Amino acid sequence: MADYQEQKEKNRGLAEAEIRQQKTVFSHFPDVLQIELTNYCNARCIMCHHYYEGNARSGHLSENVKHKVKEILPFCSLVLLNGYGEPFLAPDFTEWMELLKAYQVKAMATTNLSVLKEEWIPLIREVFQQVNISCDGYDAASYEKIRQGLCFEIFTENVRRLRGAARNVRMSMSVVAMAWNIRNAAEIVGFAASLGFDEVRFGRLGVNAYLQNYAEDLIHYEDAARKYFKEAAEAAQSLGIQVVFPMNYHLPVNGAALAEQEEALESLVFPYTKGYRDSLEADCRDRMEKGTFHRPKGRARTEKIGCRGICDWVARGIYLDRCGKAATCCENSQSQYGDLADMEFGRIWNGQAAQEVRRKFYQGSLPDFCFHCPFIINQELSYLEVDNKKALFVAEDYEENGRG
Ligand code: SF4
Repeated sequence: MADYQEQKEKNRGLAEAEIRQQKTVFSHFPDVLQIELTNYCNARCIMCHHYYEGNARSGHLSENVKHKVKEILPFCSLVLLNGYGEPFLAPDFTEWMELLKAYQVKAMATTNLSVLKEEWIPLIREVFQQVNISCDGYDAASYEKIRQGLCFEIFTENVRRLRGAARNVRMSMSVVAMAWNIRNAAEIVGFAASLGFDEVRFGRLGVNAYLQNYAEDLIHYEDAARKYFKEAAEAAQSLGIQVVFPMNYHLPVNGAALAEQEEALESLVFPYTKGYRDSLEADCRDRMEKGTFHRPKGRARTEKIGCRGICDWVARGIYLDRCGKAATCCENSQSQYGDLADMEFGRIWNGQAAQEVRRKFYQGSLPDFCFHCPFIINQELSYLEVDNKKALFVAEDYEENGRG
């Protein structure tokens, strides 16, 4: 069997050198790759476009794109197998794990873990370095209220099976922190610890102009969120589990604003009933049939946010959606590099669009599409320093109302 480790090592060394030299044309290949194996999902989570679209526009990665990806795998150290769908539902999930094993690539994925086939477990143990498991509650009611369509009992059973059989794989709970669950942040940490998770990561809710869920964004309840995240951090410390949450919630609580925010959280009415979902789905389907449905874009921000260095994803990674469209990362659908379905990888990786994004970073200006980046707000990028971080924490705004 071929040994790719030396090739990967060389590629990582080259990447480091080219980042230091601020190159915009790279000789190295991506060291980290994120591939959307499928955008099909079996859940109807209340904050996701699957809530109203269902699987109307879903599908799986094509064989053509998979074939082209194989050319890059000898250089990659890590592949993330998810995009905007449930990766464990990809029909060729086993084949992907075998492929990564053959090319000596480590895997990661964000999954709802509603499906866990017994035959996958040895492969997960061998290939995966981390599994991020989505969960936004701490019991059946709080979990199924948000992760609609999924079953808490199956979820917890699958987590236990995976934990028991793959102790070497780091397990991280991915929580979308929002108005409906922030007051239970400490309970969520306690629940994660009881299942053997290594870490809980609270991420920011991406608001959605079609759902019009703006009031659910914690940006409107900053001090209340700080109070509850502090409780979560204390719980995590006493339970010996790690916790990550956005940096603006690490600041001290403003007592004067707290009572009003607590009251606002208390008075929010949960709209996501079955009837509401059915009506949104019917409206969405109707618009799709008439050709008038589209996903509204976030309004471009005009303020300048300075930065030094380059984003790790821009310098060492690439995102491919299930159609083969390449972009900097999964956070960016606005500025694409090209389409692997009908282009050679080299023309994408060092194309004009990719070079322009790299140049922008080196010129010290954060691209607009990075303003809500979870990797920045959770301080997880090694080659990038961002100024004026406060400007990152403003409510998201859309060019138009998604429902007209
Ligand atoms: S900073 Fe975030 S949004 Fe911007 S390119 Fe990097 S990972 Fe993507």
